[in-house]
Amino acid sequence: MYITNFQHYLDEEGNIPTDIPKEARELGNFLALLIDDASTGDYDAEPTIRCIEKGCEGLIVPTLVEDETEIYWVCVKCKTKGVITNWRGTKWDNNPDF
Ligand SMILES: [Zn+2]
Repeated sequence: MYITNFQHYLDEEGNIPTDIPKEARELGNFLALLIDDASTGDYDAEPTIRCIEKGCEGLIVPTLVEDETEIYWVCVKCKTKGVITNWRGTKWDNNPDF
C-alpha cells in the first residue's frame, strides 16, 4: 500500500523536480496522472494508466474518497494499491474550485 502526500513530490513552484532520483520522479509522474484522471469525475471512463509494479500490465482505477479530498487507487490485476493526499489545488487538479 502506497500512502503518498503529493506535496512531497513537488518543488516550490508546484512542479515535479527533474533533479530528484529517477524512482521518485517516476512515482511522482504516476501520481500526477492519477490525479489528472480522478479529478475529472468521469467514473465511466475506461482505465488507461498502467500499473507501476515491475512486470504487471494491469491498469489502475482511481477513485475519489474522503469527501473527494483523497484518491484511492488500485491495480485491477496485481491489486497494488494506494492513497494520495494533499493533491487538491495542484496543477493536475481538474476541479480547482473544489
Ligand atoms: Zn499491477
